[in-house]
Amino acid sequence: MWICKKCNTENEDSFDSCWKCQAFSEQGSVRSFKYQKKVEKQDKEQKEKKEFEKKVGDKLENKRFQIWIVAAISFVLLVFLGVFLDLTTDNRIIVGGAFCSAGVIRQLHKNYLERKIIEELEKEK
Ligand SMILES: [Zn+2]
Repeated sequence: MWICKKCNTENEDSFDSCWKCQAFSEQGSVRSFKYQKKVEKQDKEQKEKKEFEKKVGDKLENKRFQIWIVAAISFVLLVFLGVFLDLTTDNRIIVGGAFCSAGVIRQLHKNYLERKIIEELEKEK
């Protein structure tokens, strides 16, 4: 049992606030203050995380051209390599294979750049 300081009403321990006047018990107000701080902290962390992700996205966007150039060069080189090594007489297979491989290279390159950007940004913090 606890007595409300505002209206002197008795309250069950399980209540954080007075059933009659809604004033917080001492424990209840500490709890709600802590809860509020926790929510504020979570909000702040979430906001910072979003800002960080946006920064990474923007920096990666700036490298988009570079990523495509590397993929295009890889494609051309792979086609030449396929033809040079005479892997198959069907050039469509060579072009298809080179295209898929260039796609994989593009993705790996992008992941690599993303990791590097994250590392750089974390160093700046
Ligand atoms: Zn009360």
